[in-house]
Amino acid sequence: MDTPDQTLPVPPPFMFSCAECTTLLLALARKVVADDGCFLEQLAVARHIAAEHPDDVPEPHTGGCNQCPKYWKQPDAADAWAEHRARDLFLPEPIARLL
Ligand SMILES: [Zn+2]
Ligand SMILES: [Zn+2]
Repeated sequence: MDTPDQTLPVPPPFMFSCAECTTLLLALARKVVADDGCFLEQLAVARHIAAEHPDDVPEPHTGGCNQCPKYWKQPDAADAWAEHRARDLFLPEPIARLL
């Protein structure tokens, strides 16, 4: 059985030019390196991107995503959906698509 790839992808340039992104990413990376459960840190980064960088949130996933169709059906889930798509920017895909 393959173990999921836990390596964090290189974040897009806009995140490096934002002090809050950098701070949140460093907090996340520290937790990942320590293998110390990074659920809250993941949420914090996604929430920040959805709120402060809405133009950089990826388009809805087409195919292969179990989550997008669920959000699509919920009219009041726009924020949660944006946070879900933002996860692609800073998490490996198998982990990003869990939420
Ligand atoms: Zn930012
Ligand atoms: Zn999706």
